Amino acid sequence: MEYRFYIGTKVIFGKNCVFASRQELEKLGKRAFIVCGRNSARASGALKDVAGILEEAGIAYEIYDNVENNPTLENVADAGCLASRFRADCIIGIGGGSPLDAAKAVAVLAVNEIEPVELYSGSFKKKPLPIIAIPTTAGTGSEVTPYSILTRKDLRTKMSFGSEELFPRVAFLDARYTESMSYDTTVDTAVDAFSHAVEGYLSKRSTPVSDVLAVEAVSLFGQCIEPLLEGKIDFSVREKLLHASMLGGMVISHTGTTLVHSLGYSLTYFKSVPHGRANGVFMKEYLLFNYEYAKEKIDNIFKLLGIKDTEEFGDIMDRLAFIKRDYSEDEIKLYASLAIKQKGPSYNIRNVCSEDLFDIMKRSLLSKRL
Ligand code: NAP
Ligand code: FE
Repeated sequence: MEYRFYIGTKVIFGKNCVFASRQELEKLGKRAFIVCGRNSARASGALKDVAGILEEAGIAYEIYDNVENNPTLENVADAGCLASRFRADCIIGIGGGSPLDAAKAVAVLAVNEIEPVELYSGSFKKKPLPIIAIPTTAGTGSEVTPYSILTRKDLRTKMSFGSEELFPRVAFLDARYTESMSYDTTVDTAVDAFSHAVEGYLSKRSTPVSDVLAVEAVSLFGQCIEPLLEGKIDFSVREKLLHASMLGGMVISHTGTTLVHSLGYSLTYFKSVPHGRANGVFMKEYLLFNYEYAKEKIDNIFKLLGIKDTEEFGDIMDRLAFIKRDYSEDEIKLYASLAIKQKGPSYNIRNVCSEDLFDIMKRSLLSKRL
């Protein structure tokens, strides 16, 4: 047996945890640059809590509240410039995966005079600034991953870069901050967390430790399916989802994502389908494609979810990750050709070629079920 396990993030989970562990915010630096989206940091209440603590501690801060959904290189370059001008000594990311991923890019760009595309080298002359991550969605797990996923207009897709130095130093997980999410975003992000756990579990790079985490995340998601379908999402469900999302993040920190994410990026890039929903669209066909190669694990997923088979699974995914199926064969061909260039397919438990991706996409997007 051989494996490595490393998560470079101190996780602090619980209601009001930023107040309970405020010293973690106070000791990081004297000039904090806060990276967030236009609305979520305020709507969730997280920005107010953090700003109050910083003010009481006499820590100067500046807020960049212009992170787009699925941030582009141009977007993070803009924020990086301002962080550098502010002479920030730490970065606080507040929001969903978009602001958290942007915060990681900003942590590099604030201290390195490089073109944003050079982020993809993954090694930087000057150490990125320390990052505090405060998620307001329960999906990406970005608060415990070393990855940042940015939109590449030049390549017409999304692409991740990563470095161990980009693990946030501290992650505060308070499910109160996820209560202001809309129903749709709650479901979309929950499906993202689930897909991290499943793709990691079925990855060639899975390990005995990542499997333990993945199994727990799948089981937690299973407990949340009914509340998600019925829209009865109380605080305890939100805590389960946030915990599952963090576990999923720890899984992909070791395994990466595989087919589903690589396929999903095109739906997000070309059709603005939210990230998690784009993943959900491909889950059923992905499991069918891999079934003979990972029978035991896939049967275990169904068992953990309390469902019979792939058909029942597909029905649930259709209800959670509903999209309009108005795709042409030419579009699907293009998306499959972009997906095969991602790293994800090479980590899938069964070897994959471009035709396989085309097939999975076609079945998922041209299905008669909807
Ligand atoms: P998101 O793009 O961060 O946010 C989606 C929408 O939800 C935004 O409009 C956002 O508003 C809103 N929102 C977020 N939290 C809210 C709250 N508590 N109350 C009200 N509105 C809220 O969504 P996400 O799914 O969390 O992140 C997706 C991004 O993460 C993608 O770019 C994806 O590729 C990436 N990702 C990263 C990793 C990783 O390991 N780093 C893994 C998976 C996915 P604002 O615009 O105001 O923020
Ligand atoms: Fe994801």
